Amino acid sequence: LFITFEGGDASGKSTQSRLLSEWLNDRGIQPVFTREPGGTELGVEIRRLLLHSGHVSPRAEALLYAADRAHHVETVVQPALDRGEVVIQDRYIDSSIAYQGAGRVLDAHEIANLSAWASNGLLPKLTVLLDLDPATAKQRLTTLGEGFDRLESEKLDFHTRVRDGFLSLAANDPERFLVLDASQPIEVLATAIRARVESLLA
Ligand code: C5P
Repeated sequence: LFITFEGGDASGKSTQSRLLSEWLNDRGIQPVFTREPGGTELGVEIRRLLLHSGHVSPRAEALLYAADRAHHVETVVQPALDRGEVVIQDRYIDSSIAYQGAGRVLDAHEIANLSAWASNGLLPKLTVLLDLDPATAKQRLTTLGEGFDRLESEKLDFHTRVRDGFLSLAANDPERFLVLDASQPIEVLATAIRARVESLLA
């Protein structure tokens, strides 16, 4: 079972994916818990290049995310799924379509095709989209004392395009997506996610 978490910065993906992993652990299931970019040794290097190299041209950025994904799927995700394990992943193809497509204004179909090639067509069974208004996300980061470093580097309209990109992906694939209002309390969100995962495990 392959489950991905998607959403903008500070939407709570890491918290919710960790809570889901812990809940599965309590039920005797040890999920593989991973993320993109950076789920492999090569991926850690690619993540560093992407996030700390200053400006990266949009097409180069898209290719680096795709390279990270190709290696991650082939060496971590697909082998785990082949062993029958549950994989919980922070960000996947939908992030590329939302960030590199909608955010950087590259063609969404081209990014989708590139991602499909990189992942050898692997799609999650469930994608949890934690939807949050970018202004609220920014406030959250300030309250957390994390500063604006992540959100500040891009203008609010970039994050609004990313958010709309995610929402339109979800609207086009309601079977795969569980869209949640990420401004709700942590436990409310966790409960909704568990209910959906429980139905998939049944
Ligand atoms: O969520 P995480 O902290 O791992 O993401 C790191 C950053 O990489 C995010 O702030 C996001 O802006 C960016 N990102 C991106 N395109 C992707 C995945 C992540 O721009 N496909």
